[in-house]
Parts: sequence; structure tokens; C-alpha cells
Amino acid sequence: MSKKYHIHTFGCQMNVHDSEKIAGIFSEFGFNGSEDSKNADVIVLNTCSIREKAEQKFFSELGRLKKVKQHNPDLKIAVAGCIAQQKGKDIFIKYPYVDFIFGPNNIDHLQSWIEAWDVKDLSKSDARRPTVVHLTAVDDNPEYHTKILPMKRVGQVKAWVSIMYGCNNFCAYCIVPYTRGREKSRSPEDICKEIEALADQGFIEVTLLGQNVNSYGRTLEGNIDFPDLLRKIHTIEKIRRIRFVTSHPRDFSEKLINTMKDLPKVCRHLHLPVQSGSDRVLKAMNRGYTYNEYKKKIDLLKESIPDAAITSDIIAGFPGETEEDFERTMTALSEIEYDGIYAFKYSKRPGTKALDMPDHIDEEIISRRLSDILKLQESVTFRKNKALEGESLEILVESKSGTDPDKMTGRTGANKIVNFCGDDEDIGKIIQVKILKARMHSLDGEKI
Ligand code: SAM
Ligand code: SF4
Repeated sequence: MSKKYHIHTFGCQMNVHDSEKIAGIFSEFGFNGSEDSKNADVIVLNTCSIREKAEQKFFSELGRLKKVKQHNPDLKIAVAGCIAQQKGKDIFIKYPYVDFIFGPNNIDHLQSWIEAWDVKDLSKSDARRPTVVHLTAVDDNPEYHTKILPMKRVGQVKAWVSIMYGCNNFCAYCIVPYTRGREKSRSPEDICKEIEALADQGFIEVTLLGQNVNSYGRTLEGNIDFPDLLRKIHTIEKIRRIRFVTSHPRDFSEKLINTMKDLPKVCRHLHLPVQSGSDRVLKAMNRGYTYNEYKKKIDLLKESIPDAAITSDIIAGFPGETEEDFERTMTALSEIEYDGIYAFKYSKRPGTKALDMPDHIDEEIISRRLSDILKLQESVTFRKNKALEGESLEILVESKSGTDPDKMTGRTGANKIVNFCGDDEDIGKIIQVKILKARMHSLDGEKI
């Protein structure tokens, strides 16, 4: 019987995609994936440290695994991702039953860990074998961005593709540059090869991933930037849709707007996180733009591509944020009219500059501001969705709907979810639907 691995992924799309790489390596060694951690021979917790809540979820899960391991000493437990990177060997002090720790830029080390532990022979292993060998892979891995790892993708229609790793921006609140290291771009050849292979396997859509895709190419020799990369990818025939996240407003350029306009396969959706509408707060956050500079770019985008959907991230209650600063964020939301936002309470992150800033805001005030932000945005989102009723839109059908087994679900180019009556045959097809009814987070439609 083959051995089983179970991966519990916390956090963002980057982690979801990293888990596809982790799964790919286990598959190469003959393991099968298991949805249920109870049946697994190896459990990997792929962690996130972007906010305190994500960290707490992980630590409570890791605590729970202590008993599981007591009952099954042969079980291997690995901790991956940003918390692994940050805490490294310290995790073993409180959680000695962890077997392996590897950071987001050391996923390739999983291969040697599997060999070293002889996990290949887990099913035959001796339960009394001493489990004291701890391994940690969190050191600098300068060539990681050039490595081609096997991947076990979730789904068959759309795929994530990393185009760069790390981040150089050091926004004052953010842990990412400390956990994912300095920015490094993958070569356009490696990226295109990966996407060509995806196209051959039948994938229709790719989402290009990077913390700041607008600075793509800066670490490469030659003269290639993100719009140039988009043009290259656009020539890959069987790929019908191209998306990308995340854009940083400081580096978002007119050249990219023109490229998006020129290339029909590039989806009409831009995620451009503003974080705050107050210049004072933006400066303290080290974001590198003012609200007016941001707004000008948005206006240019709206003028050039009027049907583009725009989404954003907002942080409520950054240290020192006054009522006036907060009101500026509310004004920004009213002025820009995003299609959707992700809004977060500011979360203290050890090691970041913001932690040592004065005037941290009371939890109660942060909660109230977040709730006001969400309320305002809900009304905008719903109004925008409502305006689509009666329209005919193109969607890529992704899967059965998660909430209604009689319905299928897909997304428009502008990234709006549409549920409609259809069947499995529709999966992977681009079809036209008429929008019948707007909801807060999705649209109901019918096939035309
Ligand atoms: N690189 C992307 C960018 O700059 O927009 C996304 C990075 S992060 C994974 C996604 C979002 O998490 C950020 O845009 C920010 O709004 C939020 N975030 C990051 N650190 C945070 C913190 N300490 N507290 C609250 N929200 C945070
Ligand atoms: Fe974090 Fe800022 Fe880098 Fe985004 S750009 S990952 S928010 S430091």
C-alpha cells in the first residue's frame, strides 16, 4: 500500500501554490495525497504569519497533533512556510515531536528529507525507532528561483505560476520580506516553458504570482519587464486567459495599462492594494506613493479600459491612524468604487518597523473602523454587481458550485463568480451567460 501525505495549508495563494509543489514532491516519491489527516503517514502544515490570527490557528493545530503523534509515533510532522522560516529550530523547543522544518524558499529540500528519513519505507518502519533527528531547512537558498519542482496542481482549468519570489519593499507592517527573502525573478524561458506544459495538459487560464509583479525583471540580466513578459506569455496558443497578482501601486505603469488594453487574453481585472487613503499613513507604512498618485493611475486605467474591475487591500488601524486618516480611507473607497476589497485589522508582527511605532490603536476602535469599511464597501460591491443584471458576459467554467450541487460555477474576465445551471461537460469551456440576479459575492446566470 502506498504511503499517504496530508497538507494543511494556511494563508494566501502563494502558500496554496507552494503546497502544490510540496504535493508534487511527495507524489514523485510514490506517496498519495489524503484529505484526511487521520490516515496520513506524513502531515505537512504549510504556515502563514501575515497576521496573528493565522499564526494562532497554526499553533493550535500543531498542539493538537501532539496527541496524534503519541498514538502513532511513526507519523512524521513537517512545518513549512513563513512561520517555519521565522522561528526555525526554535519550534523544536516547544514542539519536539516535529520532524522537519522548511521555509518557503527551501521546498526543494523536502526531497532530501524524504530520502534521509527513508520515509519511502514508512509502512515497514519500526515504531520504536528513535525519533530524535531533527532537520531544518531555512538557510539562504540563492538558486531556489531557478529550480524546476514537480507540481501536483489543484484543478485542471486554471493554474498558478510563480514568476518571482520574495519582496524588497519592506512595508512597515509586513512580515513577507523577512520570511520570503529578497525579490528574485524567474527567467522568462522557465516561466514560458511551464505555461506551455500547462497548455498541453489542457489548462486554459494562468495566474502569474509575485508579491510585486510590476518589478518583474529587475533581478534579471537583459531588459525585460512585466509587460514584456505578458506579451511573451500571450503568444502561448492554448492559454486563453492570463491573470496576475499582486501589483504594487508605486510600480504600476502606463506601459502595463497599455499592454493590458492591447492583449485580449489578459483579464480585465487589477488588484491594486491601496492600504490607506491617508498620505500620512501611507508614508508611515513606507508604501512609496500618495493617495493622489494612486488615484491618477486608477483614473488612467478606468479611462483606458472602462470595463476593468479593480480590487484592493485595506488595513484598518495602522499605528497612529487618526479618525481623520480613517475618514480619508472611507473617502477613497467612495471615490474609487472598487469591485471588491480585502480589509484587515492591523496586526502586530514581530520584527517589523510598525511594531515599534507609537500610538497603537485600541482593538475596539480598529474593529469599529473595519466594520465601517466593510459596510461601505458592501454597498458599493452590491451596486456594481446589480448593474450587471441583464448583461451577457463571458465566463470560464471552473467546477461544480460548492454551495449548490445542481449548479456550475465560473468567473468572468473581471473575476466575478457566476453560478448557473449546467453540467460537468461545461468545465474548462469559455461560454456566454446572461446575468439574472446579483448577490453580494456572486452572480446568478443562465447559459445563452
Ligand atoms: N505583496 C502584496 C501587496 O503588497 O499588496 C500582498 C502581500 S500580503 C500577503 C496581502 C495583504 O495583507 C497586504 O496587502 C496587506 O493589506 C495585508 N497585511 C500584510 N501585513 C499585515 C499586517 N501586519 N496586518 C494587517 N494586514 C496585513
Ligand atoms: Fe508585504 Fe509590502 Fe512586500 Fe506586499 S509589497 S509583500 S505588503 S512588504
